[in-house]
Amino acid sequence: MADRARIIGIDLGTTNTLVASVKNRIPKIVPTDRGNLILPSVVALSAKGDLLVGGVAKDQMITNPHNTLYGTKRLIGRKYESRTVEELKSYFKYEIVEHPNSGDAAVMLGGRMFTLSEVSSFILKQIKTMAEQFLGGPIEDAVISVPAYYTDSQRQAVKEAGRMAGFNVQRIVNEPTAAALAYGFNRGLDQKILVYDLGGGTFDVSVLHLTGNVFEVLATGGDTFLGGVDFDNRVMDYVLDKFWEETRVDLSQSPIAMQRIKNAAEAAKIDLTLIPNVVIDLPFIAQDRRDRPLDLRIPLTRENLNALTMDLVDRTFEICDRVLEEKGISRSEIDEIILVGGQSRMPLVQQRIQEHFGKPPRKGVHPDECVALGAALLADSLGTIDAVTLLDAVSMPIGYALPNGRVRRIIEKNSIIPLVKSFRLPPPREPGSPFIEMDIFQGDSDLMVDNEYLGTLRVPAEAAGRKIDFRLNEECLLQVSVEEPTGPRRVELATRDTPEALKRELLRMAEERAQKAEQAASAPSSQQDSGLFSSIKSIFRRG
Ligand code: AMP
Repeated sequence: MADRARIIGIDLGTTNTLVASVKNRIPKIVPTDRGNLILPSVVALSAKGDLLVGGVAKDQMITNPHNTLYGTKRLIGRKYESRTVEELKSYFKYEIVEHPNSGDAAVMLGGRMFTLSEVSSFILKQIKTMAEQFLGGPIEDAVISVPAYYTDSQRQAVKEAGRMAGFNVQRIVNEPTAAALAYGFNRGLDQKILVYDLGGGTFDVSVLHLTGNVFEVLATGGDTFLGGVDFDNRVMDYVLDKFWEETRVDLSQSPIAMQRIKNAAEAAKIDLTLIPNVVIDLPFIAQDRRDRPLDLRIPLTRENLNALTMDLVDRTFEICDRVLEEKGISRSEIDEIILVGGQSRMPLVQQRIQEHFGKPPRKGVHPDECVALGAALLADSLGTIDAVTLLDAVSMPIGYALPNGRVRRIIEKNSIIPLVKSFRLPPPREPGSPFIEMDIFQGDSDLMVDNEYLGTLRVPAEAAGRKIDFRLNEECLLQVSVEEPTGPRRVELATRDTPEALKRELLRMAEERAQKAEQAASAPSSQQDSGLFSSIKSIFRRG
């Protein structure tokens, strides 16, 4: 049982990390050594070779961008070849590489390769030290929050990071569930709430039913490519266009100018939350044809910003409506809207929420702090008699790949966890093969290539027809076991670490099928075969 006085809740965020602890049933944020309530989720190597974490690391982001790691939460637990990593490679300034053993994305810092669990562990270690100094004494136990849409691999990688930092990770909790706890814990409510989480890079929506201290997730959804950075990009494009109109100088070709504009665009966007007009002012941004310095001075109003980003805000409501529709819940049934994530502070977001749901978002729940506070409340309640009951849900289905490149679902989206799904093992894919192999994927799409690869299950062929259990525990971590004469045996996803082997095998199968189809010239190749071949090729394009 956890020592209640020595357990903390951690919101390991994309942009910032927060830690909270509970004293006398009241959760409070632990301040950093700089006296702030947030620790930037940034890890860097200084010019002298020192490892920097937090504010000091962020301070050198512009001067030493290649050795400053930020936004790594978006990479952790992902395969190097995944679509997300492919897209993020051009977005981050630091080098992203493929880890030779695992095939996961890894990063380079000072010429050395680090796994993303290691990078997160540096942040968590710093958090541990801060909390120990503030709370006076060693802290070993923690609850760490993760986005609801994190796959099994991402959750495993965060747990691993916690272990590396010296924590016993008592529980991984979904961020919206933690936010709901911060709002509703011990308040005796009976309400349906919608958690609207618009952070730096992602949008996440969850609908929960709160009945006393029972927190049941009814539905979740989101977009992993919709967040504050898209709002910044709109402002950047506006600034570049205006500057071009005035000077005929294209600043997009200058990385240093772009970095300055990026920072100024974000700062202007944040300022426009409080004031109606700003001026983006960047002296000596470029030189004209006669080498005379050019200054950038562009006014921006809140109305301008709203017009530039209205469609992004509208997209969040399309997602909210879809999530509600999936569960047959009407907008009017939602009692409260809880805001999470820095970008949800934008006045346009709050105004559109009021218009869309017919009620304003709930005031009094701090969008930056509520996840850490909720994680701390859960941490504190673990092991107590009046513990909360979390009925969390699977945000993305899990299934296995079929030879036609589609996925057969084993676990459906929005199923309540913990759960077990059992079925009989099919015979080997190819007759005579000594193994039954199933490539396991997690994601919303019916097509294998659009999902995240979790690993390959490999069991001896004689297991065909035996019962296999897919178990998701309360942390949404996957455990697979196969029935043996002596009882159930746990099976690890064997090629978790060699996705290349999977691709080679799938390509070989696809080529074989394509050849067979060609040979049978009289019978034109089936739609399914060509579909598989093109989807396999698209894996390679993405990798
Ligand atoms: P998070 O990942 O939740 O820390 O959210 C970070 C995002 O929120 C970044 O894109 C910030 O630019 C944005 N943000 C922070 N504060 C504000 C604000 N007051 N108004 C608008 N956006 C903000």
